[in-house]
Amino acid sequence: MKISFLGACREVGKSAFSVKTDNLRLLLDCGIKIHEDYETPVLKNLSFDACILSHAHLDHSGSIPALFKHNNPAVFSTFPTIPLVSLLLEDSVKISTYNKVPLPYTRSELNKALRKMVALAYEQEYQFFDGTKFSFLDAGHIPGSAGIALESKGKKLFYTGDFRLTKTGISTPGKLPKEADALIIESTYAFREHPDRAKLEKDLVKKTKEIIDSGGTALFPCFAIGRTQEMMELFTKNKIADVFVDGMGQRVSDIVSEFPSYVSDPESFQDALSFARPVKDRDMRKRIAKSNSIIITTAGMMDGGPVLSYLQQLKSENAKVFLTGYQVEGTNGDKLVNHQPVNFGRYSEKVTLPFEHFDFSAHAGRKELLKAIKQINPSKVFLVHGDSCEEFAADLKTQGFDAYAPALGESFDI
Ligand SMILES: [Zn+2]
Ligand SMILES: [Zn+2]
Repeated sequence: MKISFLGACREVGKSAFSVKTDNLRLLLDCGIKIHEDYETPVLKNLSFDACILSHAHLDHSGSIPALFKHNNPAVFSTFPTIPLVSLLLEDSVKISTYNKVPLPYTRSELNKALRKMVALAYEQEYQFFDGTKFSFLDAGHIPGSAGIALESKGKKLFYTGDFRLTKTGISTPGKLPKEADALIIESTYAFREHPDRAKLEKDLVKKTKEIIDSGGTALFPCFAIGRTQEMMELFTKNKIADVFVDGMGQRVSDIVSEFPSYVSDPESFQDALSFARPVKDRDMRKRIAKSNSIIITTAGMMDGGPVLSYLQQLKSENAKVFLTGYQVEGTNGDKLVNHQPVNFGRYSEKVTLPFEHFDFSAHAGRKELLKAIKQINPSKVFLVHGDSCEEFAADLKTQGFDAYAPALGESFDI
């Protein structure tokens, strides 16, 4: 088979990898990179028989509708990924309309894409007409996330998607195949380790309690998928104060609750759903903003969503911002951390509230990446989805692996 790297090459964003067998052309992921405008993978003139999607995040799914310009491929994913990706793509349309920046696809292409989605359970094998087969393995990244194990004419390829092997938050631990001839692996944290999760949780609960005990508000800008539910569960187990959930995280929580077998502790998650209260409208948002409570809200990097309204209202109040995820350079979260004015849409203003960052990553750290590579022990390993792919490839070569950091558009035969 021939693998071509169409995105996420030496960067995070627009993941897309083409796999060509004698009779079939497949696409693993079809993401988007969001800056001031939208960057798609290199899709020109290529037609695909199917797209196999690792998980709902837009850097893996955001360009899927663009495949339907001249093409009508099937799109395979796990069961929870279908409603999650549909929610995120619909939201992209709203944001694009609001910002007046056109998406790389039309409304009707988006509708076509959603109609062509087909779900498979983890470890359920699907076989194409030429004998090429694949299955999804739990990736432990967000609910429904998967690695893709593909086999064609005796050659095995494994693509990790985004993954984490240890149990974190509401996700179940990720799984790996026993072996593969070629491995495409994310390398977001090739040279970084994450802190111990249990210790991190304890520290976060302690710091949150401090602001609550002082009569203040704890504001949690959180990613809608995964982190919101994790924080809901954490502050349901540790009942320090009332918990409110605002923004897209509410809808995601409802979706996730429909797939209990995809969360690590369904009962505990149900408790969190009953304990945390949804913020229903603007009046309620105003009412609770300055209350002595915990507010979990989108967007995780503070680029839009109700979090901006809370920041405005809490300006000179007793409140603290708890960042629980990675803040990409140039986002409002990054601006807050670097004491730069935050973009509120019509104006920018410095936010002087105290803040603290906690590294609750849903990605493998260096140790887990090395563990995965050593365990699968591939003949060729391709490093993607990272800012230091080339350095990581050089590092792996010294450890005896045939490692590559593919450039955009580069192809390899395996
Ligand atoms: Zn992801
Ligand atoms: Zn990703």
